[in-house]
Amino acid sequence: MDQIKIGAFISQRRKEKGWTQTRLAEELGITDKAVSKWETGRSMPDLSLLSPLCTLLEITLNELFAGERIPEPFLKKKADEILMEVITNWLGVDRCGKREEGGAPSVPVPVLEVQNISKVYQSDSGPVPALNDVSFQIHRGSFVGIMGASGSGKTTLLNLIATIDKPSVGAIWLNGKNIADIPEEDRADFRRGHLGFVFQEYNLLDTLTIYENIALALTIKEIPRETVEKIVLDTAERLNISSILDQFPYEVSGGQRQRCACARAIAVNPDIILADEPTGALDSHAARQLLDTFSTLCREDGATILMVTHDVMAASCCDRILFMQDGEIKAALDRNGEDKQVFFADILKKLQQTEGENRDLF
Ligand code: ADP
Ligand code: MG
Repeated sequence: MDQIKIGAFISQRRKEKGWTQTRLAEELGITDKAVSKWETGRSMPDLSLLSPLCTLLEITLNELFAGERIPEPFLKKKADEILMEVITNWLGVDRCGKREEGGAPSVPVPVLEVQNISKVYQSDSGPVPALNDVSFQIHRGSFVGIMGASGSGKTTLLNLIATIDKPSVGAIWLNGKNIADIPEEDRADFRRGHLGFVFQEYNLLDTLTIYENIALALTIKEIPRETVEKIVLDTAERLNISSILDQFPYEVSGGQRQRCACARAIAVNPDIILADEPTGALDSHAARQLLDTFSTLCREDGATILMVTHDVMAASCCDRILFMQDGEIKAALDRNGEDKQVFFADILKKLQQTEGENRDLF
């Protein structure tokens, strides 16, 4: 936002109307001095005066912030640019989705915004609606769970956010970019650069050691070798897998493999980590360790995690749960700092409400 340009534009529009500064000030019920300050770029109109000022000068709010007339064909593009600029000024550049040193930010910033998405698959027997008008936001540093019966659309939703598939309708904004629009040929690069995956089948390469598996994600991002080594060692220490870095995936336990997948996902500092049933194949001790790791990453590193789970215990570690049914989000539950046990009971209650008494809970 260029305050001087805005001031000059106010002055120009005022003169085009044949008004003095005093006349404009009178119309707005303020002092001449205030108008003079705007016009010389020394101050900006008060929030409450923006709208009446635009009406008097016969300009739009976008034009006022741009400090110029905006021809009709460019209106939409320009309007979006200005909005981003105003938001960026307002929030501060570094808070817009970037991870900060020293923990989660105090102002919640939506990392992910899913906007009215629907997905219809085409099959031999006709169209299959999998998602219907789904909308939600996820803020940076939060750990969000998705629950719902089989066939309710959880994997479809995750695949759309993972850019593995495209929505039939709607937008998915990740840090301000509509990822539903990314062309097919750019999606793999986008995933490597911006997303982390922790799926039930570990997706580790059996011919590489644990160290190499984690390092691979970074090598693809063209990070220098010394930096790669430091990141791998640091991440491994955090996830308590330093002692197995030289082993191969088939030589370590399921829990360790899953923590390795987790290390690989977080090492690249992704915008969001997507986890589909990450605890599904783990014993309860290993599951607990993985969930503790997820919680710590969100709380201390400002990581953002979206996890599909059937497991109420796993869900009770989240900050928020979205309940899906028949391709829609039917309910949401916020933990609001409650104890895990209390949240566990709340989730059970909500599942019974949304899916009936006969649900197989585990
Ligand atoms: P969930 O992960 O909750 O079990 P899914 O997202 O896998 O649910 O499936 C939602 C609905 O979409 C189901 O009715 C399923 O049969 C259908 N579906 C999923 N994938 C496809 C596909 N590739 N082609 C046709 N139908 C699909
Ligand atoms: Mg599924």
